Amino acid sequence: MGDYVNRLMAQLVAKNPGEPEFHQAVQEVAESVELALARNPRYVDAKVFERTIEPERVVMFRVPWVDDRGDVQISRGFRVEMSSAIGPYKGGLRFHPTVNLGLLKFLAFEQVFKNALTTLPMGAGKGGADFDPKGKSEGEVMRFCQSFMTELQRHIGQFTDVPAGDIGVGGREIGYLFGQYKRIRNEFTGVLTGKGLNWGGSLIRPEATGYGAAYFAEEMLKTRDQSLEDKTCLVSGSGNVAQYTVEKLLDLRAKPITLSDSGGFIHDKEGIDREKLAYVMDLKNVRRGRIMEYAEKYPGVDWTAVDPAKHYNPLWAIQADCAFPSATQNEINGEDATNLLAGGVYVVSEGANMPTVPAGIEALLDSRILYGPGKAANAGGVAVSGLEMAQNSARRAWSRGTVDERLHAIMQAIHDTCRRTAEEYGVAGNYMHGANIAGFTKVADAMLDQGVV
Ligand code: NAP
Repeated sequence: MGDYVNRLMAQLVAKNPGEPEFHQAVQEVAESVELALARNPRYVDAKVFERTIEPERVVMFRVPWVDDRGDVQISRGFRVEMSSAIGPYKGGLRFHPTVNLGLLKFLAFEQVFKNALTTLPMGAGKGGADFDPKGKSEGEVMRFCQSFMTELQRHIGQFTDVPAGDIGVGGREIGYLFGQYKRIRNEFTGVLTGKGLNWGGSLIRPEATGYGAAYFAEEMLKTRDQSLEDKTCLVSGSGNVAQYTVEKLLDLRAKPITLSDSGGFIHDKEGIDREKLAYVMDLKNVRRGRIMEYAEKYPGVDWTAVDPAKHYNPLWAIQADCAFPSATQNEINGEDATNLLAGGVYVVSEGANMPTVPAGIEALLDSRILYGPGKAANAGGVAVSGLEMAQNSARRAWSRGTVDERLHAIMQAIHDTCRRTAEEYGVAGNYMHGANIAGFTKVADAMLDQGVV
């Protein structure tokens, strides 16, 4: 770590205590950005990176709601508006009991670079609440969403800040949130993305993050004259990103063999085929059940429950070619990364945000495998959100083929930008540095143009 990063990190930690995920995300980017600063003194003089790590605005609010027993519940809501240098704030909402300010600052910070990579004009934000939709009734989820939006609507708008979904916020929640926004503001605008198809949503938006992670892996493999065909793939999570990663892997003739949730993981040696994927989608999106039920339904499938005494996740020790972490942050630790490499994995495409801890990233980069960091590999979701905004502004709806083609082209462009930037900065093959530097320089140049704001 250079002097610049050391100094910056000491200040950041002192000013933002108790926010380890935010520190981790900034440190990773700072180590890349140091390479760009050495070539661009103008960024240093204007303290561009120092400004990037300070959110433009943070809103934190009370979300009171009444549960089915008639008891009053109080949740905490947030919106972190990180950067508007290249467009309106844009980024998802997460409803999960672990949500706190530091976690959302990490996610909003990652979003700055990711959104810049998409080639679309989007700034960065992230928000959510410590509310857990799991186990709640439809009525409770709706009342919570309505209360959350009653406050959030003051801070967002189609030209200001356009939230989307993330963990715990899918089509159902976006519907309730949109309904309440419309009711209070009396306007039908593209203020949220991930909307239903018959009320302003875009085809391919639900699929986009998972499809994009598979496209990104395919592009990385092309640099070695290979493809995903016949590759055995580990996928974690079983939510939106995991489901559509599996779907695109099947389109590309790969063989996905695992899925997980917070209870544990299934290992299906025969491969998760289309019929089994349809079962998972119904299980998770309609019946809202647990992935363990997959092993009860299909004979020969192994189920491994989470064992809190274990300091590694046995999912990542299964022999395979590719890994698609698609559950949550820091799900691959140093030992998991070593196990992945020992099991033959040589492609990692991160569907989740920051799923790999720094020691794990170091191990993957040192081994010179194809490592696609989340802010590049999972940018397909926000990219299609950008396309949804464009369709809403034009009052038009594009076909499935058009949106998928654009998504594919954007993922190829992101891959190309990361690869080329890494080469330019003397770190060929390092997609992490490539993504961080390319995202940063785009935002930094806009900030220089706009003065000290
Ligand atoms: P989701 O539909 O809510 O699914 C999340 C999945 O991950 C579930 O299977 C969940 O299991 C599991 N999970 C969540 N937190 C966990 C934890 N602490 N430990 C173990 N498992 C956990 O969410 P998603 O939209 O797929 O998001 C997954 C990841 O992709 C996140 O990192 C998100 O930030 C990232 N991402 C999403 C998008 C998008 O468009 N949705 C775009 C870019 C990046 P349980 O049901 O048991 O909790």
